[in-house]
Order: sequence, then structure tokens, then C-alpha cells
Amino acid sequence: MEFTSLLTSEDLEHKLRLANDLQEAVRLEQLTLHYQPQFETVSGNVRGFEALLRWHHPLFGPISPTEFIPLAEEIGLIYSIGDWVIQTACQKNKQIQEKYMPTSVMSVNISGLQLQDSLFFDRVCGILQKTALSPQSLELELTERDRISLKDRRIDTLKKFANHGIKIVLDDFGTEYSSLEYITTLPLSTIKVDRSFVAHIANHYEGTVLVEWIISLARKLGLTVVAEGIETFEQLHSLQKWKCDFVQGFLISKPLHESELPLFFRKVEWKQENKFLHT
Ligand code: C2E
Ligand code: MG
Ligand code: MG
Ligand code: MG
Repeated sequence: MEFTSLLTSEDLEHKLRLANDLQEAVRLEQLTLHYQPQFETVSGNVRGFEALLRWHHPLFGPISPTEFIPLAEEIGLIYSIGDWVIQTACQKNKQIQEKYMPTSVMSVNISGLQLQDSLFFDRVCGILQKTALSPQSLELELTERDRISLKDRRIDTLKKFANHGIKIVLDDFGTEYSSLEYITTLPLSTIKVDRSFVAHIANHYEGTVLVEWIISLARKLGLTVVAEGIETFEQLHSLQKWKCDFVQGFLISKPLHESELPLFFRKVEWKQENKFLHT
């Protein structure tokens, strides 16, 4: 819901300035991606990464994507930003596969608006071809906020991706009333349990039951489950007990700047060797 009419003139001025600066940031290539590792819950093996967009404003410092993505959508910048994100994330994943981990999967967040663009599918296939990355190495994360209805033509685009081998992930699962409808109408392979639910695990009976139920529901529907926002060992242990497929969260790793990836993989390798020595 937009409340633009309730903005004070000061707010509006700030918003216009940000809109202008965001355009400039795109032009000057000042946006960056961070990569948050995803792990197999039970084995602890790395599965891949989620690409998360970062904007460091020259004056205001870091601005959250939850603030500037809606702005980019409003001013039509989301298309060029979205293409840049996919291109950059795919290139990085190719490097990761070649240097460290041939099976690495990269998850990219997309806005529902990008799906309305009739050439989006072809451009993504073009990027995969150019980076020599298999479709199975890319996933697209979509949120329920995009409100895709049953007859929406965007479902056809999602089906094209799914048929091509690019997995579709429903992000922030459970935060909107349409969650259950979505899992039966969209060509999904994965749901991501929102971190607001994960936060309740172990200290809140209803919250704990809910997450356990979401995981068993997903399993019955043949969907993969990722839990996001793991911050405590209690949460991790519960998710291991319930056999949630993958986990992601500050407890295990924050989103990493590309310069932090070599050290991350050295630690992973060390852990694997160590495990080997002790078995
Ligand atoms: P999301 O896709 O649900 O991403 C997860 C968010 O949770 C990220 O915030 C991540 O930094 C944060 N997070 C991860 N682990 C933890 C944890 O253990 N605890 C807590 N408290 N937070 C954790 P971030 O990077 O600020 O992104 C916020 C949202 O902005 C994303 O939510 C996504 O919806 C959107 N976004 C980010 N990058 C992009 C992008 O390239 N394109 C689009 N369309 N949206 C993006
Ligand atoms: Mg996401
Ligand atoms: Mg999420
Ligand atoms: Mg979120």
C-alpha cells in the first residue's frame, strides 16, 4: 500500500533525492552484491549462496534494499538493476564453481515487475549461455508480496523458467495470507520459511509448532524447504530434528562481500579435512 499522499514535503524531497541518487548509482556502477551461504541442515555442507543487493550512499551510508528496491520499482529502475543483479550473480557463481565448488547454486531475488517484461526469460537464458552456467545453478526468489493471482500471465513466465530447469523459490513464506494458495498455483520447487517464524522456534510453543508443520507440509507437497534467519543453536537443532533441507542465517554466516569468499572456502575446506581426520 502506498501512502505517498501522507508524505510530508520533507519526506518527499528526501525520496526524490534518493530516486535521483539511485539512478546515478546504477550509472556509476556503485551497487554491489553480497553473498550469503546456504547450508544443508543435517550435514552442514555448503549448498550455494543468496545474492543480496547493497547500496552504500556517499552521504547517507548503507541503505537497505527493503527501502531502495520499492523505490527502484516505483521509478522503473528495477529492470536494469534486476538484469545487472542476475548477470553479476551468475558470473560470480561461475567463478565459485570453477575455483571452489562445482555444484554451487546461486539464488537471486526478483521483483514481480520483472516477470511482466516479456523479454525477461530470454535475457536470463542469454546470461546463462554467456556465463556458461547450467540453468540448474540458478534459482529465482519471489515473494508473496507480488500477489500473483491464478490467471496472472506471470505464471506462464514462471512455468517457462521451471521447464527450463531454473528453480522458483517462494521467499518469506507465511508472511502473507496468500501463502497456501501460492504453493498450489505456482510452479515452485522451494519455499523459504520467513525469519519471523524461525525467530520463534524454541521459545514460543505456537511458533515452534508452525515451523514444524510448514516443513512437513512442504515435504508432502514435494517442495524443498529453506529456513532463513537462523540466529541460535536451538533454532538450528530443531531444524535438524525436523529435517529442514537447508538453512541460512547469521549463526552460520552473514552475507559476504566477494573479497571474503576465499577465506570462507578455506574454512569450509579445513572443516572437511578435519572431519575426515576424525572419522
Ligand atoms: P530476503 O530475500 O528475505 O533476504 C534475507 C534478508 O535477511 C537479507 O536482508 C539478509 O541480510 C537478512 N538475514 C540473513 N540472515 C539473517 C539473520 O540470521 N538474522 C537477521 N536478522 N537477518 C538475516 P537484506 O540483505 O537487507 O535484504 C532485505 C530484502 O531485500 C531481501 O529479503 C529481499 O526481499 C530484498 N532484496 C535484496 N536484494 C535484492 C535484489 O537483488 N533484488 C530484489 N528484487 N530484492 C532484493
Ligand atoms: Mg530472498
Ligand atoms: Mg526472505
Ligand atoms: Mg525477508
